[in-house]
Amino acid sequence: MPPLPLLALPLLLAVAAVGRAAAPAPANVIVILTDDQGYGDLGCYGSPTIRTPHLDRMAAEGVRFTDFYSGAEVCSPSRAALLTGRYPPRSGMAGHRRVLFPNSEGGLPAAEVTLAEALKARGYATAHIGKWHLGIRPGSRPRDQGFDRTFGLPYSNDMDARPGITGRIRASDNPPADGWNVALERDGEVVERPAVQATLTRRYTDEARRFIAEHANRPFFLYLAHSMPHTPLFASPEFRGRSRRGLYGDVIEELDASTGEILDELRRRGLAERTFVFYTSDNGPWLIEGLQGGSAGPLREGKGSTWEGGMRVPGIAWMPGRIKPAVTSVPASFLDLFPTALALAGAPALAGVTLDGTSLLPLLAEGRDPGERAYFFYRGFELFACRLGDWKAHFQTQAGYGQPKPEAHERPLLFRLPHDPGERHEVGAAHPEVLARIQEAVARHRAELKLGAPQFQ
Ligand code: MG
Repeated sequence: MPPLPLLALPLLLAVAAVGRAAAPAPANVIVILTDDQGYGDLGCYGSPTIRTPHLDRMAAEGVRFTDFYSGAEVCSPSRAALLTGRYPPRSGMAGHRRVLFPNSEGGLPAAEVTLAEALKARGYATAHIGKWHLGIRPGSRPRDQGFDRTFGLPYSNDMDARPGITGRIRASDNPPADGWNVALERDGEVVERPAVQATLTRRYTDEARRFIAEHANRPFFLYLAHSMPHTPLFASPEFRGRSRRGLYGDVIEELDASTGEILDELRRRGLAERTFVFYTSDNGPWLIEGLQGGSAGPLREGKGSTWEGGMRVPGIAWMPGRIKPAVTSVPASFLDLFPTALALAGAPALAGVTLDGTSLLPLLAEGRDPGERAYFFYRGFELFACRLGDWKAHFQTQAGYGQPKPEAHERPLLFRLPHDPGERHEVGAAHPEVLARIQEAVARHRAELKLGAPQFQ
């Protein structure tokens, strides 16, 4: 009887559509993390000379954060915060030595629940591509931390320097291809040593596209952590000499093209509307690298520092159809990505794990402001600063590099960031009530913060 099915079919489709709207299928999650890219190094963040048409389009189609913070002021703790959703002192991924080195005994503790583990438990396929830098000992490696597969460098591209390789050579615009003996690994096996660094962005991108193509029919989590633009800088031949900003600009423009290829892969496979993509950088620009270091734009200082330039980074969220295009000045951070991904997976909160952030989905999808939240800036295990609403108080300050000791401030330095993003005009004397509110937030935070065993010794 043809009339009945013909009538019933649209009804069934309508019911299915309502069902989908109520509880969307688990979304794919892609985090694209660059290394040491500054706040001012993208077209959509005001770079006058670096062209980033793909990232600019991603920002126009998604949400661009003006006030997005990394997990820390340097690599290892920042990555630990991203993958655990927790302030680095909780996992012990902090310390006087600042990051992990090839001879470090520590690493991300096996007991920490990573985003890869949480999503894998929900049936996601998981891949890490690029730089790891969370430990090379058993228990800390990518495949010990929830990633089904891994392809990339175990740590920074400037570690394993050959004898005679100085900082000046590292920061030159023509670093020697064989200057660093860092290994390229696949699933824990060395496949190339030294890694041919000029091919890394290209190969990470190809690997990411392949992973997406192979998992078009099941939810996946892809953590693509580029080695660039951490010095020594290398670009593919087709990008070398292309930008108006020199080698650093060439490297960024290649990362931009890489991101464009990944978004195109998603569009072509019909995955764009069920894949959440977030683009960001692990910390601010490495200013002591001179022309090979990036720019924090209007912000003060850079990598290594808890001034804004060290931790305020580009942050772009993209998921057409689900995310309402906007530019937002709501402060958010790496800590929010874990709960956001859980929400996108339709997963409940983790039992017995303290997460420090909040899902950004209500903000991204409906423009709902999460309300005033404190953000704490750590350098190692030391609390250096706190942002609350428009205000940021510094209890201690220190340049990223070249200032041996922090300067402690008996009365914290206070800046009103929307008025003064460059943190030039200290206004604490006029706002004792703001400082008092920040001190209360710090006291509450300290009362519940349990420190992990230090991993960077
Ligand atoms: Mg870094």
